[in-house]
Amino acid sequence: MKVLLHEMSWPEAKEYFADNDIAILPVGSNEQHGHANPLGTDHLIAKSIAVETANRTGVVCLQVVPFGVSSHHKQFWGTIFISPKTFKAYVKETCLSLEYFGVRKIVVVNGHGGNLAALSELGRELREEGVFLSVFQWWPAALKLLPNFFVPDERRHAGAEETSMNLALHPELVNMTKALNEELSRHVLQVEGLTLPLSTVDETKSGVYGKQSTASAEKGKEVFESVVNELVKHVFLLKKARIEDLAQKPKA
Ligand SMILES: [Zn+2]
Repeated sequence: MKVLLHEMSWPEAKEYFADNDIAILPVGSNEQHGHANPLGTDHLIAKSIAVETANRTGVVCLQVVPFGVSSHHKQFWGTIFISPKTFKAYVKETCLSLEYFGVRKIVVVNGHGGNLAALSELGRELREEGVFLSVFQWWPAALKLLPNFFVPDERRHAGAEETSMNLALHPELVNMTKALNEELSRHVLQVEGLTLPLSTVDETKSGVYGKQSTASAEKGKEVFESVVNELVKHVFLLKKARIEDLAQKPKA
């Protein structure tokens, strides 16, 4: 049985949707990840996790939405930046297309933290409309599942943890001879408790936050396995859950 929607014919899709009300949608970004990593890091990792989860659960997986909310990285060449409003609307219409065919439960595998606010807002909106959206992010999962695997400085944007995932999943796209570690510059106005409207370029010259050079494919494989296992548990639980029990309704 095929699990990738774009590889199915329409009669095959009809057969799947006749029996299943659940789907997986990976989303990410195309944005700078320092000198060693490809721009596609976030959507490539999200896609790999989503496809592996689909293979292990038999739940259909859509193509990855590659562009996300990345304007804070825009000064770095090649970054594509979509507004939260447009990103939310695009993902919503994708979800509503699935709803047309009877899907009521959608697992979004999000590879980019900048997308989360828009996705959370969308999830609440769709729940009001009878569609239950859950959002999975691999890095907070890895922090809980493998707390001692990396130090905090390795767990930041384009750091050793994310670079390890790239080395495990698509090593041909990583150039470790260009890996580097960068301490962030603290803005002259910064005091505790203050949020400033800064971009990545205000904090790091290379685009790397913290330590990148300690990345390895072995560590990446372990993180991948561990987060996919976790997501598979959720997908099986959601597959069994009844939409009536997940729907928003007045308190009894
Ligand atoms: Zn990233």
